[in-house]
Amino acid sequence: DAMSAPARLVGEVGRAVLADVDTLLFDCDGVLWRGEAAVSGAAAALGRLAAAGKRLYYVTNNSGRTRAAYTEKLRRLGFPPAEPRHIFSSAFCAARYLREALPPGAAAYVLGSPALAAELEAVGIPHLGPGPAALPGPAPADWVQAPLDPAVRAVLVGFDEHFSYAKLCQALRYLMRGGPDCLLVGTNRDHRLPLEGGAAIPGTGCLVKAVETAAEREAFIVGKPNRFMFDCVASEFDVDPGRTIMVGDRLDTDILMGNDCHLTTLLTLTGVTTLDEVRGHQDSDCPARHRLVPDYYVDSIADLLQDRRA
Ligand code: PLP
Ligand code: CA
Repeated sequence: DAMSAPARLVGEVGRAVLADVDTLLFDCDGVLWRGEAAVSGAAAALGRLAAAGKRLYYVTNNSGRTRAAYTEKLRRLGFPPAEPRHIFSSAFCAARYLREALPPGAAAYVLGSPALAAELEAVGIPHLGPGPAALPGPAPADWVQAPLDPAVRAVLVGFDEHFSYAKLCQALRYLMRGGPDCLLVGTNRDHRLPLEGGAAIPGTGCLVKAVETAAEREAFIVGKPNRFMFDCVASEFDVDPGRTIMVGDRLDTDILMGNDCHLTTLLTLTGVTTLDEVRGHQDSDCPARHRLVPDYYVDSIADLLQDRRA
């Protein structure tokens, strides 16, 4: 069935749509900023939305920062004041998931950043990484002699720039020991992190895949496009999907989650997606690809509630 093209959310259309909305969920990288630089005009746009009484929450697949670090980054870049409880990162949501899924006192073996460890600590989940402990021999086959912590009941995989074969071995050992009683959780599946100038580095999805391949099982994924991240927001704030916009730069995470959760979806073109990619999905005969098509788009969120068209 034919799909209509997303409309540009500017001018009168923009005002009318936003008038029926009380909550906006913002993806971060590619929407609010690119790396360390704010998207031009984005902070002022969020200021206008806040002044218009909209509730602003932040949903990011990046597990490399704490909620507190996000509020500090928003402040530093001139965005309206946010509190840590308004930030839903994949690190925070992973900690929440494990808090609900693990029995009291159970620990997690973590491949991830110090920020991921800090979010686990904040909800009282004991965790261990590989630490600097000496490996029990020179060959990987010797490493199965390394001690295992009896409290570990989950393996959690996030962005880990120190990912290693030794950590992969230890993760597999915990998963083989516990069988289905050891949870396997990934923060997100983003397979690449784009950098300026067309460069990219491998994303957390590559690390999750490595552990899944070794363990011969699939991880539970906390981040977008899984609706768990939206459910985290909805469980802490009273969110009406019919009055909520999900704003993102990526179709297979942000827009897919928003559509699956029956939110209004808004693509911004300041990140990784072009309108040509949207048209490709829209013109496809495959219903699964239609779920990647946003309701609206903007060239930049700087256009939101802007009086003059750029
Ligand atoms: N994961 C990592 C480790 C990142 O550094 C980033 C972006 O900087 C992302 C995921 C994607 O983040 P977002 O969901 O805010 O676009
Ligand atoms: Ca993004």
